[in-house]
Order: sequence, then C-alpha cells, then structure tokens
Amino acid sequence: AKQQGKNNYQIYHEGMAVQTLNHLALESDLRKALSRKELLVHYQPQIDLMTGAIVGVEALLRWQHPLLGFVSPAQFIPLAEESGIICTIGEWVLRTACQQQRDWQAAGLPPMRMAVNLSAQQFQQSSLATSILQTLEETGIEPQYLELEITESAAMRDVQFTTSTLSRLVDLGVQIAMDDFGTGYSSLSVIKHFPLHTLKIDQSFVRDAPHNSSDVAIANTVVALGRGLGLKVLAEGVETAEQVEFLRSIQCDFAQGYYFSRPLPPEAIAPLLISKQVT
Ligand code: C2E
Ligand code: CA
Ligand code: CA
Ligand code: CA
Repeated sequence: AKQQGKNNYQIYHEGMAVQTLNHLALESDLRKALSRKELLVHYQPQIDLMTGAIVGVEALLRWQHPLLGFVSPAQFIPLAEESGIICTIGEWVLRTACQQQRDWQAAGLPPMRMAVNLSAQQFQQSSLATSILQTLEETGIEPQYLELEITESAAMRDVQFTTSTLSRLVDLGVQIAMDDFGTGYSSLSVIKHFPLHTLKIDQSFVRDAPHNSSDVAIANTVVALGRGLGLKVLAEGVETAEQVEFLRSIQCDFAQGYYFSRPLPPEAIAPLLISKQVT
C-alpha cells in the first residue's frame, strides 16, 4: 500500500484525476498518521511586550509524512475538516499540549499559558466541553492556563450555539482567544456577543506595520478596543524589531512571531522557557 501511495504522489503533476487520487491518498494517510505517530506538536512562544518575558506558547500541529516529508497544517487541516478526522486530531493535540505543560511543570518550570487551536468542526461538537474537562482532569492542568483559540467564522456559524458553548468553556475556567481577529466579516459582532479574554491581531495587519497607515490604524483600533473591553491583545506574525517597537508604542500586550522564535519542538523550546526570555 505504501508503494502505491508513493506512485500517487509521483504522478501528482499529470492532471486533475491524478490530483483527486492524490487527495484521497493523502486523506487516507492522514487517517493513519495518528497511530503511526507522524503527527507532532510544535510550540511558539508568546511574549509580554512590556517585560520581554515568555508568558505562554501556542501549540501548532505538524505532520511528518513518510514520503512527502513535512506537510503544512494549512494544507492538511482543511482536508482533516472535510473528512471529519479533525475532531480526533484536535483532541490529540489538546491532550498532547496539556501533557507537555504538565511535564514542563514537573521539570520545575512555572505554569504558563498553553494556547490550543480549535477547528470549526470541533467547536460544533456537543461533547467539546466534557472532553476538555476530562483532558484537564487527566493531566492535572489548571484551567486558567489553557487558552482555546477559535476563529470568527467558526464562532459565527451559529451565534446562539457559540454563546452557550463558550459560556460552558468559560465556566470550566479556561480562557478564550479570538484568532485571526479582523479577517472575518463580523469582527465587531464577535466581541459584542461572546465571552473572550484575548484578541489575536491577524498577521496580515502586522506584516506592513508600521509603514502601511491602514495597518497602523487597524492595529491601534484593535488595541484600543481590547483595552475598552478589558481584553488582552496579542499581535501575530511579528518578524522585525521595527514591528516590536511599533506594537510597544501602541501598548499592545503580547506578541508572537519569527522575530522572537519560530514554532519549535518541545526539546528545542525548553531552554527558552527555562530562561523565560527569547532574546
Ligand atoms: P494560526 O493559528 O493563525 O497560526 C499562526 C501561523 O503563523 C502558524 O502557521 C505559525 O507557524 C505562523 N507564524 C508564526 N509566526 C510567524 C511569523 O513571524 N511570520 C509568518 N509568516 N508566519 C508566522 P502554521 O503552524 O503553518 O499553522 C497554520 C494554521 O494551521 C494555523 O494558523 C491554524 O489555523 C492551523 N493549525 C495549526 N495547528 C492546528 C491545530 O492543532 N488545530 C487546528 N484546528 N488548526 C491548527
Ligand atoms: Ca492560532
Ligand atoms: Ca492566527
Ligand atoms: Ca491563520
């Protein structure tokens, strides 16, 4: 079966039919990826812009495919959403991240925020809160250190359902972050309706700041909005010292990006967490 899989990938460029075949092969591989231990979680630090200290990490899924090598989550998450396996994978990411957090604490690190992405499908599952509670209990993680990241599009599918799901999650004591904030069609509705703790300014608004005046205005507004509503604001995709300077000047709370560190495997990020400092 592996041999056949290989052929499918090799003839990828030969046309649509082949591409579909390839898609199917990838999907079937993804189903096996978990049991074959090809899925990994990397961690990217989140920095307090005022102190420069690492205050948390975001868990980011990685797939080390035996033939294709590293497959980006941007490619396989949509596939996993389509086929429904995202729920199983998402639960695995959550458990892995919580176990990692527990291991770090056992090794003497102070507890820090662990941010985990929830997919739209996972978010629709009525068993979500129960499953999260179970993971928290199994791993002994204090709920206030777990932050669940959801997107506007997932949240806005069914406002009433989202409201009740989020209040159940908030009752568990976990934090909620709105990911890619500003890229949806309903950003203001999202913050009006839902109990949130953090707004993550999408990297598309950070990339050209401080040179692009629209991006500067948007970043400024999101920070002001966050302050007015008692929410923390984190800027994503921070790559340059100039962006850090700008974000500090508008008193954005937190930042995350290659400037500080790429997402890293647990053994590579541990030394950073021990020193609590990325620079
Ligand atoms: P996201 O949640 O918005 O994650 C941020 C993405 O930006 C990550 O891409 C991260 O590696 C990348 N990034 C971080 N700093 C920088 C920077 O300075 N510059 C640039 N250009 N990029 C930066 P990644 O890891 O490839 O993940 C892509 C997307 O896949 C994520 O976007 C998220 O939507 C999804 N994803 C990743 N892991 C999971 C997961 O466990 N569950 C779910 N449902 N989705 C996930
Ligand atoms: Ca995220
Ligand atoms: Ca994001
Ligand atoms: Ca994104």
